Amino acid sequence: MATTPCFGREELENLRQVIESGQLWRGTSRTNFTARFEDEFGKWLPRKYVLGLSSGTCADETAVASLGLEPGDEVICPASAPIFVSFPVVSCGCVPVFADVDPRSMIISAEGIEKRITPRSRAVIVVHLWGQPAPMDEIMAVARKHNLKVIEDCAQAFGCTHRSRKTGTIGDVACYSLQQSKHMTSGEGGIFVTDDPEAYKRAVLFSNCGMPWYGYGLEAPKSTPLAGFTRRGHFGFGHNYRMSELQGAVCLAQIPKLPEFAERRKALVHIIEAELGNVPGVELAQAYPNTVPNYWAYPVRVPAGQGAYVEINYLEEEYQKMQRERRTSLGIPLPAHVQYVPGACPNAEAGAKCLRSIGVHQATDPESVRQTARTIRDRALAK
Ligand SMILES: *Cc1c(COP(=O)(O)O)cnc(C)c1O
Repeated sequence: MATTPCFGREELENLRQVIESGQLWRGTSRTNFTARFEDEFGKWLPRKYVLGLSSGTCADETAVASLGLEPGDEVICPASAPIFVSFPVVSCGCVPVFADVDPRSMIISAEGIEKRITPRSRAVIVVHLWGQPAPMDEIMAVARKHNLKVIEDCAQAFGCTHRSRKTGTIGDVACYSLQQSKHMTSGEGGIFVTDDPEAYKRAVLFSNCGMPWYGYGLEAPKSTPLAGFTRRGHFGFGHNYRMSELQGAVCLAQIPKLPEFAERRKALVHIIEAELGNVPGVELAQAYPNTVPNYWAYPVRVPAGQGAYVEINYLEEEYQKMQRERRTSLGIPLPAHVQYVPGACPNAEAGAKCLRSIGVHQATDPESVRQTARTIRDRALAK
């Protein structure tokens, strides 16, 4: 239940300015709210190139598209993560290959990745699930060894650090969600970031119907007439995933609030840890070495069978359909080594049966978090 306000005068003032300006879409200017948000977010991380988008799922898809992959290329994804992580691989004409995870955290493991490498592997998506930074030393080492690009999905991981660097600044490209439940929000929204100008340009084309509205002084190609016809200049395949000024106005006002939101989340984590710290059969979350989490939701291990994790991607109906038809939803054939079958990632499946997560959103009433923790405790003790 939301009791603590997350929006205030700052958001309202920005929104008022947008409405009064009469311009609700971003257009091509670099001085509007969306562009200012991009600049501020880039400084906060830091990253050179930032692109505001209409949702986190669009940001995941744009991140895949930014790598310039070919149809049928394989992208290694965690077995256990929201489906918004692997569907974008499908929609880019690539093949999601699920790697096993650490059953304690459900985060993709370097070992799991290495087992899935084939000559078609091009990239891996690492999700810093729960706001816990993944073990990036091991993961980056495997990725570099096999020449894989690394996408960091930071939808649940704003302001977490790995060796004092923020998540989203370690891999090649990263994506974020600004959906209501995340650490900062404009209701819906997403962000793509990178330091690679070529990845940024591909991301702009993909999310802007192929039109090269590059920021950061990057030079755009010019369209020339063809057979006497003037052309607008669509230089790539793309969707319209642009962030609106209404979204830009709200999320710009949210950046300075991140530290306060993190404190509120931390207070909720303390409640959970106090309630569940000494309960037999219950294990608290444990961050990886050299990392500082900023919990999005707090994962606890409970006795087997009391878990409630529903995000093993390949068990979902649509993946089962792909498995039966031996092709992705877009008609790309599945090679024989890609199998979306129960048992494919045993750690993820075993972990799911033992995992409960407790939401620690900055708007959450502390009493409701305490009640959820106590319900988990009582069930574990009753066993
Ligand atoms: C929320 C989320 C997304 C998708 O974001 P939307 O804005 O809801 O589309 C992607 N990846 C992860 C890990 C998420 O938690």
